[in-house]
Amino acid sequence: MSDRSPVLLWFRKDLRLDDNAALMAAVQNGGPVVCVYVREPQSEKVGPLGAAQEWWLHHSLTALDAALSEKGNRLILRSGTAVEALAILARETGARSLFVNRLYERDEIDPAILEQLHRTGLEIRRFKGQLLHDPKTMRTGTGGPYRVYTPFWRALEKEGEPREPVDAPASIPAPAHVPASESLADWDLLPQRPNWAVEFENLWQPGEAGAHQRLKRFIDKPIERYKRDRDFPGLEDATSMLSPHLAFGEISPARIWHATRGLTATEDMIHFRKELVWREFSYHLLVEFPRLASANWNDRFDTFPWAFDKAQFAAWTTGQTGYPIVDAGMRQLWRHGYMHNRVRMITASFLIKDLMINWRKGEAWFRDTLLDADAASNAANWQWVAGSGADAAPFFRIFNPILQGEKFDPAGDYIRRFVPEIAGLPNRYLHKPFEAPLAVLKEAGVTLGTTYPKPVVDHGLARDRALSAYAHVTGRSADPDPRD
Ligand code: FAD
Repeated sequence: MSDRSPVLLWFRKDLRLDDNAALMAAVQNGGPVVCVYVREPQSEKVGPLGAAQEWWLHHSLTALDAALSEKGNRLILRSGTAVEALAILARETGARSLFVNRLYERDEIDPAILEQLHRTGLEIRRFKGQLLHDPKTMRTGTGGPYRVYTPFWRALEKEGEPREPVDAPASIPAPAHVPASESLADWDLLPQRPNWAVEFENLWQPGEAGAHQRLKRFIDKPIERYKRDRDFPGLEDATSMLSPHLAFGEISPARIWHATRGLTATEDMIHFRKELVWREFSYHLLVEFPRLASANWNDRFDTFPWAFDKAQFAAWTTGQTGYPIVDAGMRQLWRHGYMHNRVRMITASFLIKDLMINWRKGEAWFRDTLLDADAASNAANWQWVAGSGADAAPFFRIFNPILQGEKFDPAGDYIRRFVPEIAGLPNRYLHKPFEAPLAVLKEAGVTLGTTYPKPVVDHGLARDRALSAYAHVTGRSADPDPRD
């Protein structure tokens, strides 16, 4: 096509110029490019963005606008349904086509939206770039979807290297009359009173430049120890911290994958790639089972006798359970909009199995508070911990929060950072203050039930309760796994 009328380029969770197929095609089209981001009203299918992600979005859109300005263009902000906002913009600019990158989590709503826009006279072109591979074409030997990760990984290996990423265009021609944009400040995405995002600013740099810096920093060194260090939340920079950037599409997985190509194929490098492929696998599950965030993958869990104690749920969300590793994780989440992967598993297991609260409650809390909240990865991982998902950890693997803390935060650096009120306890009792003799507590300035909570449940009893609930679902008793 070489119609030089303007192209509408609809940015969504692909807030980047690098390796952006829709953008590249729009530029190659030869005419002006109208870059737009639409803030759609919440609907049954367009869930609200979590509060933490609203903070990120504000800064990411600012960064995208600045990057577009350097290329001679700018970002137009519009609110409304996608159909209305884009149709109006097309009329204002004389655009005859709409280019957009595919987002698999919108597979249920995008076809109808694009069809309606097509009916207004727009030519629609869709491109790919959210994932390394098309999750729909990945099929087992018998033609079905993969339900187990390892064969999925092997199948991807067989497919060979993902496609080469494409550099950002040198310039992006703007329309002669740039249409009006709404003001980002009016969208009110930043928290005001209280500003709970204060710490985000020192930790994160939303936007494409921040994503590339993170990638470079990780590839330069920490990746060399990735396999060994990635499970220890007290170690700084042990993982890439790329997840929020990936969630907003500020960097493409192909760009990350290819950045690891120059490295020797060590166990660390391969392990890192395997984690990227867990993201792919989560999307593979989501496209096969779009209700991944709301319904049990394994419907045997539909009769699971969940409990809900409001006070216990509040203790979990605020990091006041009396189990230090759980509390450290939940407070990291609140303060940083992020939680270490190992601790996500521990806190999720605690909610589901110790408190017997439905995994959906945890999924929703993470969705609201994580900067990297992702429709596929969040739901797939919650179901993985619950045991209701595909290739999930069996329900009867119940993390012991004391042993997990002792194993993965042995020096207590992580706990002391996020739960300072017990920092004075010796390592021996740091993971179980409730077992410390009174004299030790006193010396450390800890009064259980006053300065730090007593445990909300007894882990041993809670574990027994969870196992009998599980037996109720399966109709037989479960053999607990002694490793946990
Ligand atoms: P790295 O270790 O550097 O890994 C590189 C990338 O691989 C990550 O950025 C991520 O894109 C991908 N990845 C790593 N582990 C996983 C995994 N288990 N599943 C899917 N992708 C993975 N990740 C999200 O991106 N969004 C979520 O909403 C999310 N919710 C989770 C909820 C629970 C209960 C659990 C147990 C895990 C969740 N994860 C989620 C997965 C994982 O915790 C994060 O991706 C990881 O901690 C991000 O840190 P990183 O970028 O430093 O990861």
